[in-house]
Amino acid sequence: MATAAIRTNQRPLRAALLLRVSDSRQAEAESYSLDSQRRVGQDLCHRRGWPIVREYVGAGESAFTRDVGKRETVRALLADATSSVFDVLIVHDVSRYARDEELGHFVLNNLHLLGVKLVNATNDIDYDTPEGRMMFSMELSFSAAGSRKASFHIKKAKQQKFEMGLHVGDVPFGYAAGETNKDPLLVVRTEAAAIRQAFEDFANGAGYTEIARRWNSAGFQPHSKQHRSTFAASAIQSVIENDFYCGYVRHLGERKLGLHEAIISEDLWMRAQVSVRRQTSKARESWLLSGTAECVECNGPIWQFKTGTKKAYFYYRETSAVRERKCSVGGAVWRRDLAEAEVCAVIESMTTDPRWLDEVDRSARKAPAPQDDRRSKLMATKKRLTNAYIAGARSEAEWRAEAKTLDEQLGRLPPDNPTAVVFAGGRLISIGQIWSGMTTDERRETLRILFQSVKMNTRDKRLWLEPWPEFAPLFAMRRDYCVHGTPGRTRTCAHGLGNHCSIL
Ligand SMILES: [Zn+2]
Repeated sequence: MATAAIRTNQRPLRAALLLRVSDSRQAEAESYSLDSQRRVGQDLCHRRGWPIVREYVGAGESAFTRDVGKRETVRALLADATSSVFDVLIVHDVSRYARDEELGHFVLNNLHLLGVKLVNATNDIDYDTPEGRMMFSMELSFSAAGSRKASFHIKKAKQQKFEMGLHVGDVPFGYAAGETNKDPLLVVRTEAAAIRQAFEDFANGAGYTEIARRWNSAGFQPHSKQHRSTFAASAIQSVIENDFYCGYVRHLGERKLGLHEAIISEDLWMRAQVSVRRQTSKARESWLLSGTAECVECNGPIWQFKTGTKKAYFYYRETSAVRERKCSVGGAVWRRDLAEAEVCAVIESMTTDPRWLDEVDRSARKAPAPQDDRRSKLMATKKRLTNAYIAGARSEAEWRAEAKTLDEQLGRLPPDNPTAVVFAGGRLISIGQIWSGMTTDERRETLRILFQSVKMNTRDKRLWLEPWPEFAPLFAMRRDYCVHGTPGRTRTCAHGLGNHCSIL
């Protein structure tokens, strides 16, 4: 205690200034400007004889947050306080420092622990004293309440505008501000004509990009805060989806008829929305095997397609017929749900089959052996065999018999790297567990992680999955297990699902 006092007497406290304005408007207002905050702080330091060693300036930084991560200056000054860069922090008033009670106390407590004082430059209060601490709490509460009240008033004003049938927010393209902000927006005739045409065109099948190009070449400019001078496709999309053009105003999810003049009829707006839905569903929906599966005969792509008007039917289709290529599968289709069920069964059974999990476990415990290339040679032989089978140079029975021999030889080899197998096993098992909760996109991604190819024969309704080398030992085991499993008993394995899906 005594030493601290002596040290304070010997060396003047080193001061740091914290200055903040939340936006440019405030920066211009005289009493709150950075310059005036700085002047008041400098005056105080001059009176006390404190040298100013640092200045923290938060321009455009909102204090109305509890997240210290959003307060660059606060983070910086806490870091400096930790390395004893200064002894006292000068703030202009508490609102400069924090408008959130929690953050305010958090920072003050930290400064206190580091032995740094917090002093208010306008009233010279040392917040480190018990009285000061109480003042600090009160000021902080007022400051926080002030902010909440201000944002409450803004919200209330917006709500009132909406209830009167007035537009809330930026003025949309096609309109201009009314005489006062209590008047409805006014139609800009030239822009309105373009908007009407765009809705018509869109309802008749035109795309966003096409309309954007037309508007840009006609010299129209968006009402953009970012000062964009041309329309992007996304801007056209917001126009097409905006029901302000057919007479509505919206606020916080509510909608009502507005006082402004509509540019298009509600009927035209509705017709355009049908096109919106058509365009987005076309772009977004992608099925599990789309872009992953290919034809086992010709390696051509497999497409998803939908048919039927009243009731929709979903199929995977081989594409050689569409593209006028020759393939024995010749454009045959396979019902989407049936094809996908085959794949899902393979993945899902990875967790549900305890006997297979035992196999994985046993194999993982096998002792490691010196590295040799017997495994890779056998794998290469097997790959050639499989290609021959796929190409039709081997019958299924031949392929099964030869693959079995190769797998037996492979099985006698110790795993290359037991930890890799355990790891791969763990991954497969957890994938099996979370598969049912995955979105289609996640499932498609998972298939890409596990399999280097997914082959399909849409005519014979068959699938072949070829795992990546990393997972090959496990899947080989899995296939073995299925082949050698006892038929007729409860078939939990993937191959029980109608023998439609094979692992290569
Ligand atoms: Zn084909």
